[in-house]
Amino acid sequence: MPEILLTADRTLMSDYHHNEFIGFGTCAPPNFIPNWLYGRLFFPPIKTKRGIPIAAPYGLRKIEAQLLGEGFDALTVDPDHIREYINEAKVLGIHVMDPFGLGPASSTLAAIFKKEPFLAQYFRILMEKTEIKKAKRRGLKIIVGGPGVWQFRFRPRFVKEYGIDCIIEGEAEKVIAKIVRAAFNDGTLPQYYTTGIQEIPRLEEIPDIVNPSINGLIEAGRGCCRGCEFCSVTLRPLRWYSYEKILREIDVNIKIGRITWCCLQAEDIMLYGSKNTLPDEDKLIRLNELAVKKCEGLSWSHCSLASIASKPKLFSEVSEIILRKQPWWGAEVGIETGSPELAKKVMPAKAHPFKPEEWPKVVRTGMGLMHDNKLIPACTLIVGTPEETESDLIKTIELMDDLKDIRSLIVPLFFVPLGRLKDEGWFKEAQLTQLHKELLIKCFEHDFHWIDNLIDLAFPEKWYASFLQIFYRFFARLAEHRVERAGISRNRK
Ligand code: SF4
Repeated sequence: MPEILLTADRTLMSDYHHNEFIGFGTCAPPNFIPNWLYGRLFFPPIKTKRGIPIAAPYGLRKIEAQLLGEGFDALTVDPDHIREYINEAKVLGIHVMDPFGLGPASSTLAAIFKKEPFLAQYFRILMEKTEIKKAKRRGLKIIVGGPGVWQFRFRPRFVKEYGIDCIIEGEAEKVIAKIVRAAFNDGTLPQYYTTGIQEIPRLEEIPDIVNPSINGLIEAGRGCCRGCEFCSVTLRPLRWYSYEKILREIDVNIKIGRITWCCLQAEDIMLYGSKNTLPDEDKLIRLNELAVKKCEGLSWSHCSLASIASKPKLFSEVSEIILRKQPWWGAEVGIETGSPELAKKVMPAKAHPFKPEEWPKVVRTGMGLMHDNKLIPACTLIVGTPEETESDLIKTIELMDDLKDIRSLIVPLFFVPLGRLKDEGWFKEAQLTQLHKELLIKCFEHDFHWIDNLIDLAFPEKWYASFLQIFYRFFARLAEHRVERAGISRNRK
């Protein structure tokens, strides 16, 4: 029996019908669809063999690889099969993304619908498992890590109540072994451990995953050089993996998991191999050529409008490579605002190599290029950024009008204090003005207009496609209605 168990809650241990886009459904609160059916539609349990998931979140796989590489007996298990493996475990490692639903998407939906999102409910369900409580009583140590750990600072009572021993904030490859050793030896662990600058791993210190990642997600790089004030990624240095490392990890997915699809993960894949905000043409083309050659399909986790707008010819060359094997591909894209003034204040380098004053033009150009080259973006807009004025909002609303013919999803997110703005206040319902409401409704209408088309493209001939269409239409109308009523209240600290 393993000494270290690794897991994540049910909403993270799913392949979302092989589509990350569906995973956004975990941010929603319970609604008119019965919970059991909703779970099947949006986060069906990943397949398991004797309780071991055939794929797991990429971040968890990195930690698993690090621990195995350092000689520990670690095993990733499905959350519904912990009971079978926990008896002799000394450490339970839990990966979190948005454990309390405080992330921008889930907290916006929670504010609109006044209910706790599924992902928060399922994290609590995991923590309440009797087998974990029993193991805790005999001395099991619980260590939590992942992009959502910042939320525990807002929930100190939960940390105490559920006996979480250590919360690791930051990239954990260089520190996980010493924390686990401390747990094994004397049991004294720091409640919060923030990795210092010296503990951020260099490329050669990041192990390859040894078991498959969900939906073939593979990191191509870490960090971002654009420095937006509201973002925590910006605090990490920029590092790009070599082609060889990326291909080795794709091989793990193909050979062990039979996952022939790859999603390249980076904050801006267009900048692969670049040291600044200008794409490196040769490296970007080579990366995509190599990935397409190896896989049956490819998507990108994120890319930036500025990189695309700065190199339209390069972007269409890359799209030709990707479209050899598929009719479209997807990525997450940050629009955040349509106001050049606000862009200058909170994301001055987001438009680079263009000036922040040119941001709305950059967005229109980049979105147009995506539409023409069949990249379907899921875009974010931030509502309630500190210092946002009425004029900023009017410009964002005008931008939405200009984007109405671009095949895309545009998701409004209430401002969440992160990155350099972590000491600012949360955006609250009391601050929701008529202009905010107008902007939210514009987004719902935009998505409503495109959703059938997007679902048809994403799930050709799948039985659940029409369910998703009906659900989304109803959900969007309901959200619109709630926003119009304005009686929104926020369910948070
Ligand atoms: S919001 Fe995007 S572009 Fe800005 S710093 Fe974060 S990752 Fe980089």
